Amino acid sequence: MNSRISALQRQIDKIKRDLVQLDSLRFGSLSKQYNVCSTPGCRCKASPPERHGPYYQISYTRKSISSTRSVKREDLAEVKKQIRNYARLKELVERWVDLATKLSELQLKQRHEDKKPEPRGRSRRSA
Ligand SMILES: [Zn+2]
Repeated sequence: MNSRISALQRQIDKIKRDLVQLDSLRFGSLSKQYNVCSTPGCRCKASPPERHGPYYQISYTRKSISSTRSVKREDLAEVKKQIRNYARLKELVERWVDLATKLSELQLKQRHEDKKPEPRGRSRRSA
């Protein structure tokens, strides 16, 4: 069981190192928009219409408040990277929670087995 415990600890240590690597992040989802302006005879009113854009925006909801911010085309790559970093953060935290749960279960089990060297019958409790 010790080798399983140390394997889990190594995996958790790796996650912690990966988390430190995430520099900037952003929560939200990007969307693209095309607009129609108010200039008479503009190409956006032609047939077929050639609307203006794309314009990018990021939308997010934090503490029940929804927000939308426009994102300039030149900032798009950076914001996309930040959104990917947020997804990575979530993924790493989820993985950490899974591994930490297994680790805790094993450690507690081992602690109790260390206390009683005589193995008891087969009274297995399912928690
Ligand atoms: Zn127009």
